[in-house]
Amino acid sequence: MLKRKKKDSTTRGEMPLPAIDFKPPVADKKEEQGVLIACRGIEQYNSAVMLLGQAISGRADQILLDFSQQGVAVRFRVDGLWENMPPMDRPTGDGTLVVLKKLCVLNPQDRRSRQTAKLALKLNGTDWIVEFMSQGVPTGERVLMRLEPKKTVLNTLADLGMREKMQQQLRDLLNTDVGLFLFSGMPGQGLPTTWRVGLESADRFVRDFHSIEDSASHEPELINIAQHKFNAAAGETPMTILKSLLLKQPDVLVFPALPDEEVTKLICEEVLEEKRYAITRIAAESAVEALLKLIGTYKNSTRELLKMTNGVINQRLIRRLCPDCRVPFQPTPQLLQKLGIPSGRVQSLYQPFIPPPPEQRVDANGKPIEIEICKTCDGRGYYGRAAIFELLHVNDQLRQAIQQNPSPAAVVQAAKQNGFLSFQEEGVLSVATGLTSLQELQRVLAPKKK
Ligand SMILES: [Zn+2]
Repeated sequence: MLKRKKKDSTTRGEMPLPAIDFKPPVADKKEEQGVLIACRGIEQYNSAVMLLGQAISGRADQILLDFSQQGVAVRFRVDGLWENMPPMDRPTGDGTLVVLKKLCVLNPQDRRSRQTAKLALKLNGTDWIVEFMSQGVPTGERVLMRLEPKKTVLNTLADLGMREKMQQQLRDLLNTDVGLFLFSGMPGQGLPTTWRVGLESADRFVRDFHSIEDSASHEPELINIAQHKFNAAAGETPMTILKSLLLKQPDVLVFPALPDEEVTKLICEEVLEEKRYAITRIAAESAVEALLKLIGTYKNSTRELLKMTNGVINQRLIRRLCPDCRVPFQPTPQLLQKLGIPSGRVQSLYQPFIPPPPEQRVDANGKPIEIEICKTCDGRGYYGRAAIFELLHVNDQLRQAIQQNPSPAAVVQAAKQNGFLSFQEEGVLSVATGLTSLQELQRVLAPKKK
């Protein structure tokens, strides 16, 4: 048997200490200096800097630290998947956590309560926000850090991966004078981003947009959309502010969260009688499910909601093939047929290049062979993510079909007769253009383990 060289299978080698400027959440410069000096005096300061620097340069958007008696497990989330990193021993991990908590101006002695803070930092000219959360658990303590660039990087529908024709279709739907548009998706599938970018793609310069939000919800501020807040914790509802807002004759009403039955009834009247447009969002796995959920939730307004809804969008995130190392292959006619791609339409499809683990990088005689690991994706085969979308047009034909048979399968069937493409079909388009691989599409569309 070959002697296995026990080594980290990735190429992440030694890296110089990243130059990170921390901006702890304190009132003034003097206090900030005090925090920074105290942190630099701790032995594990470099370890904390290294952890954050490695995560950011490795494109991780989350860091998870699991403290147990044995040590500290370290995981990075890259493109939606968790990767194990080399663990830390307890003294290193404990010291690193003291530094992180001090930078966040939290209490390092408290290893049990839930503590949260936001820490700003700058690395290579880019500002980042670290959302820090620590919580005692039965086995020890768990720390989750979410890393987000301060400036949004996804700003157009094209940035999200939406194909050109659909971008226009979505804009046309959102720019309709009368109706309701529904954004939908599951948690972790990019709905907040599609919501923000989608709203920003609508014509907010000609029409008057007003958003009605719970003050605790922290919705992003969007250009040319007036925000109106109500305090749900104090018992207020959208109704508290809606009546006076309606006196201003708004063109478009935006509800980041579905309101109650009474408010929904009023919105239906406003849309259908006063000729306004409404936009809201809902958690659902597909566009059809979202529509059925919307009309099923408000029993007193089902008919009106179905009448006024003109479009529904839903999205899932999918990893993009690394453009520098993806491997083309010629699909067999059988495969193309199975995918529903007309023969002659595509010459090649692409698959990821995943290098074998180090112990298998040997020839038939056991002699090591040199395999070059792609520097762009670090041997992952994928680089970044895009969304695939379902965009459902709701027209009279579909409304009629829903009234006759509101089962999801029947509604999908009726929608397809109107040209609707499901995730499966939209995904095949992304595979055909080389954006992603067949394996990745199958992974994303596999039924969720319950
Ligand atoms: Zn690559």
